Parts: sequence; C-alpha cells; structure tokens
Amino acid sequence: MPYDEIAAQLQARLETLTNRLNSIKRDVTRARPVDSGEQAQERENDEVVDAIGNETRISLREVRAALDRIEDGSYGECEICGEEIPLGRLQALPEATRCLNCAQ
Ligand SMILES: [Zn+2]
Repeated sequence: MPYDEIAAQLQARLETLTNRLNSIKRDVTRARPVDSGEQAQERENDEVVDAIGNETRISLREVRAALDRIEDGSYGECEICGEEIPLGRLQALPEATRCLNCAQ
C-alpha cells in the first residue's frame, strides 16, 4: 500500500473526530434547566455547539471519503484533472481531492 502512512493518519483523525462528535452530542443532549434565566445563554452555547458539530461532521465525511478512496485505489488522483496529487500535498492535507492547480 503506497498510502499506508496516510491511511494511518486518517484513521487516527477519524477516531479523534468521532470522539469529538460524541462529546458534542453528549453536551447537546444534556438536560438543561427549563425555568432558569440562563436559557438565552444556553441557546447561544447550543448554536456554537451546533457549528462545531457541523464542522466536525463535514471533516468526518471528508476523512471517511479519503479512506474509501485509498481502499478502492482512486486515492491521490485529482477529481478535476485526473492528475496525481503530489505526495507532499497529501501528507499535509490527507483529505485533499484536488491537485494544487485545481484547488485554486
Ligand atoms: Zn487537478
């Protein structure tokens, strides 16, 4: 496997992101006081949590997609021009789907 190291990196990231998402979910589903004056503040926090949650979900999807591509052998190809994405770029950004030219 030419992308063993990157696959390991992605697996580790997958784990980190999954853990983060789980802890965010825990925060969101945590019971909150109904009749306290802190409700507005709580709601604001929820929005922040949502934003982080969404970001995490998007990253998670990208990492999973990258692992899928490694599995099916299409990893490292630019989705636009079909050229090989340089290894250095993949190491810096393992979930990259485009070469530097096409990403711009
Ligand atoms: Zn390209």
